[in-house]
Amino acid sequence: MAQKILIVDDSPTMLAAISRMVQAMKHTPLTAGSGEEAVEIFVREHPAFVLLDVNMPGINGYETAKRIRDASPADWVPIIFLSAGDYDQDLERAIESGGDDYLVKPVSPVVLSAKIRALQRLDGMRRNLRELSDELSSANRRLEQVSLLDGLTGIANRRHFDNFIAHQASDARRRREPFSLMLCDVDFFKPYNDTYGHLAGDECLRRIAGVLEGCCRRDTDLAARYGGEEFVLVLPDTPAAGAEVVAERARRDLAALAIPHAASPPFGVVTLSAGVSVFAPDTDREPQSLIARADQALYRAKETGRNRVVVAGPA
Ligand code: GH3
Ligand code: MG
Ligand code: MG
Repeated sequence: MAQKILIVDDSPTMLAAISRMVQAMKHTPLTAGSGEEAVEIFVREHPAFVLLDVNMPGINGYETAKRIRDASPADWVPIIFLSAGDYDQDLERAIESGGDDYLVKPVSPVVLSAKIRALQRLDGMRRNLRELSDELSSANRRLEQVSLLDGLTGIANRRHFDNFIAHQASDARRRREPFSLMLCDVDFFKPYNDTYGHLAGDECLRRIAGVLEGCCRRDTDLAARYGGEEFVLVLPDTPAAGAEVVAERARRDLAALAIPHAASPPFGVVTLSAGVSVFAPDTDREPQSLIARADQALYRAKETGRNRVVVAGPA
């Protein structure tokens, strides 16, 4: 593939000679008579390679290489130095200032062509590596997202909930703001499975998850599957009264879906019971106590007839 190769030399004869070699290799030469001009052309044309004379009036090759590297720090472009001197310390300085290889003038077309091909191969490998690492990062991001979702319902899973509530609790303690938790459990779900089968049970859980997610009106709210047929809502910055409204809405919305449930004699449709608790920044040390209070409230909702919301008293 033809590539742009920037040739930098203060000698017009040398520029012409190397341009011919580059053309013979089926590449496109760009020429600069000074380091300053080279940096300008580099920035404008994005060449694939730079062949750079060391001794030039104005900024020399080493300084030019540094400026080229500074101009595109993220993108590596091979730089080959061309020098009249063949001292080891020239080579040392060439590499030190950001060069990748070194050729002594007069330049042999065979050696130049071989070096260009070798650096092209390296450049190709570097590009492949970068593509691979980009793919890897995006696969990792996808994996991380998937690892936070419940496989059955597609809403947040228990792992996500555990992380979320831990952060939420420490935020709430620091900012002295209440937040609420709603723990809910489907009523008579075992008989539902027994009557309609597990696949229908799974579909029912997906629909319930959809209802709960629909009840999360704020971006900061979280609906998660807590386990089995239990779900949880976390409502940041929400006191008891607000949480009760949300929980009551969830209960009503599910009942209104009217998913038939012949084995739920009191209601005839799928319903849920919920317990709500409020995090007390001063006394709650861990989210566990908040979850335990919601669980007790849920138990009371079940005991007192199901298809209802019970709000736990303060801690
Ligand atoms: P209650 O009104 O007291 O909550 O009665 P229940 O039958 O809902 O309560 P219980 O906790 O005894 O039953 C939970 C049932 O939920 C057990 C199991 O059959 C069902 N279940 C749990 N996870 C899943 C699931 O992922 N898919 C299906 N289809 N059923 C599940
Ligand atoms: Mg249960
Ligand atoms: Mg249940």
